Amino acid sequence: KLENATIKAELGRASWKLFHTMMARFPEKPTPDDSLALKTYIQLFARLYPCGDCAAHFRKLLERYPPQTGSRNAAAGWACFVHNQVNKRLGKQEFDCNKIGDFYDCGCGDEDGNKKN
Ligand code: FAD
Repeated sequence: KLENATIKAELGRASWKLFHTMMARFPEKPTPDDSLALKTYIQLFARLYPCGDCAAHFRKLLERYPPQTGSRNAAAGWACFVHNQVNKRLGKQEFDCNKIGDFYDCGCGDEDGNKKN
């Protein structure tokens, strides 16, 4: 089957949106179990990402830059950094990671709402 760059890019945008929004909602002071859960999620994301070529490149990035899951700031900063590594490889502009603060909003309106389940 032919590669379809438009569909691949659409998947990328949706995936990055979820990825960064998860980091923005990660606890500021996670428990060790929270941190392990996020690290595991990232490893599985890199294993199962539907574009196999993208996933293989991303796994190499994870080896070089292991996921930082000790706090929300660490996780969000790390995710911004690795996305920038992908941007660089694809010849895209770098994103200013200082501006990541309010950029990813889940629209849930309830800070820590993900704990009420
Ligand atoms: P995207 O890179 O999708 O970014 C979406 C939006 O996020 C941007 O418009 C901007 O507002 C914001 N943003 C940009 N940079 C950052 C950052 N550093 N931190 C936070 N927010 C940011 N495509 C390929 O062709 N080949 C690949 O090998 C490949 N590997 C990928 C690996 C992964 C894990 C993922 C999730 C996607 C991959 N993609 C790959 C898709 C690619 O990264 C883009 O998603 C796609 O090309 C669309 O790009 P875009 O310019 O719309 O912006």
